[in-house]
Amino acid sequence: MISEYSDKIIDSHVHMGTYGPYEIRLEDLAKEMDRSGVAQAVISDIGLNSLDEQGIERFPDMDTIALNSRCLTSINTYGDRFLLLFWIRPLFDRNEERLSHFLWENRERIGGLKVHPKTAGIPFSSADYGPYIEICRRQNKPFCIHTQGDGYSNMEYVYEAAVKNPDVTFVAVHMDLGGDRESASEFIARCPNLYGDTTLVSKEEMIKAIRKCGPEKILFGTDALVFGRDSYGRYEGFYESVLENFGRDGAEKVFYKNARKLFWKEKYE
Ligand SMILES: [Zn+2]
Repeated sequence: MISEYSDKIIDSHVHMGTYGPYEIRLEDLAKEMDRSGVAQAVISDIGLNSLDEQGIERFPDMDTIALNSRCLTSINTYGDRFLLLFWIRPLFDRNEERLSHFLWENRERIGGLKVHPKTAGIPFSSADYGPYIEICRRQNKPFCIHTQGDGYSNMEYVYEAAVKNPDVTFVAVHMDLGGDRESASEFIARCPNLYGDTTLVSKEEMIKAIRKCGPEKILFGTDALVFGRDSYGRYEGFYESVLENFGRDGAEKVFYKNARKLFWKEKYE
């Protein structure tokens, strides 16, 4: 169980779909969420990476809207349990207008946009992300970015975009995977519209990040079920630790209120 003290846990970063060695069925994910006491989650289809692990293009001729729609249709059978993070494919997306229209039509079921810059094949510092940032601004949706010091997904690229677009919400997923969480936290603390998601962040690093940025800037995320059935195992004790250090109010923000505010918007405001 993620927490014995709350029945409202929201996981702000989970996946379904098939990519490389990963094969995640939505039914399995829902089952593990039940078992771990996770009420709701923000989900994206890991299969929509634009490049495979060898750098070969995936579905270059397929429409991004059609690809994301499959995930949307599946999650809609679970009512409001999931919100979709629409996985963008800047190498292949051609029709901004259509994309924008689709996102607006489905705004109740879509939490925001998501990109993994390395497997998208385009560094987040590129102007190619401009139209997506514009959509986020117009539709008041957050932009969630995989962050890692790989020359594509660097924290500083996301920070710079956030500073340049103070009216758009950015979420740094992983807060610099495998990198320096303290400097990632400094970026987040310095920029009011930049949030940190704790996916694959350790408990100690999470506590330090909350101390530095405040509980209103950090969201609980996990990457379930990327690591199989036991994906939630590594987050055992996280809630208790946040509760102990930052009280009920801090824990509620990190484990569900921030996610409601950013992704569910009007329904829970
Ligand atoms: Zn992920």
